[in-house]
Amino acid sequence: KKAFLQIKNLNVEYVTKEETVHAVNGVSFKLEKGKVLGLVGETGAGKTTIARAILRVLQEPPAVLKEGEILLAGKNLLELPEEKICHVRGKKITMIFQDPMTSLNPVMSVGSQIAEVIALHNKISKNEVRKKAEEMLETVGIPAERYDEFPHQFSGGMKQRVVIAIALACNPALLLADEPTTALDVTIQAQVLELMKKLNRENNTTTILITHDLGVVAEMCDEVAIVYAGEIVESGSLEDVFENPSHPYTVGLFGALPKIREDVEWLSPIEGMPPDPTDLPKGCKFHPRCPKATEQCRSCQPDLKEITQGHKCRCHFAEEKEGSGCPN
Ligand code: SF4
Repeated sequence: KKAFLQIKNLNVEYVTKEETVHAVNGVSFKLEKGKVLGLVGETGAGKTTIARAILRVLQEPPAVLKEGEILLAGKNLLELPEEKICHVRGKKITMIFQDPMTSLNPVMSVGSQIAEVIALHNKISKNEVRKKAEEMLETVGIPAERYDEFPHQFSGGMKQRVVIAIALACNPALLLADEPTTALDVTIQAQVLELMKKLNRENNTTTILITHDLGVVAEMCDEVAIVYAGEIVESGSLEDVFENPSHPYTVGLFGALPKIREDVEWLSPIEGMPPDPTDLPKGCKFHPRCPKATEQCRSCQPDLKEITQGHKCRCHFAEEKEGSGCPN
């Protein structure tokens, strides 16, 4: 099937005088229209940098996009001039950040913040803009009467709903949601996720959901990509990854989940720390933490290989029958 979004060999570094942080290292993936992809990994794994690169809002400098292509409906976003990408941003692609307050203007009413985005992308009268903005508020479960209120009059969950309303005001083709519910309490989390699901179903919005929460992934996603040290180490359909986790890191992530039914038993989290991105280990980047590491792992970088149709894994031993084919 045709990819709506295709990322090819994305490489991003943060370069300062003292050091180079290798944040994203050769990330490639495809996503069909209307699908929800979960980008999963620990803090600092490079997930947010991938999303910011797609939106072309990397903090430059020091972020440097070294290499890669980002194709949206076949067009390479990295080749678009700044004025064109401004149009794409908001109209075609929008992003929901983790903390709603980073996206909301404290001195502007919530309604006018939604209206501003609508007016920017539609040539319609002021009254029509207001009507549309009120509809958006209602869609996210906020009564239209609260249009003229300010962010500080809203709870955390309500603020995140406003952010979602702003993000969705122009019916984006691609929604990037960076830990959209992390700052919210559990009940509100469920409501916000339910809302995102509904909007995805109704508008066929292709979505990338960045999270470290496998429960949220199970709830929301069609596809999953596990990110470690700036690389995808495993990817596939939700069923592939959840029913047959194949990379030792993915297995570790599942192992680190508490077993809900067995009286709060926390299983062993993955031992060790993620590697220093200024000094990544040679060979497999997971080898210092991997219980299955061998000499080959320490010297030779594994490729992301297809182990069954559509299910890929970056481990020398994911496909033991055929061996690794390591040239070193
Ligand atoms: Fe572990 Fe080796 Fe596989 Fe890396 S390649 S995940 S170190 S077994």
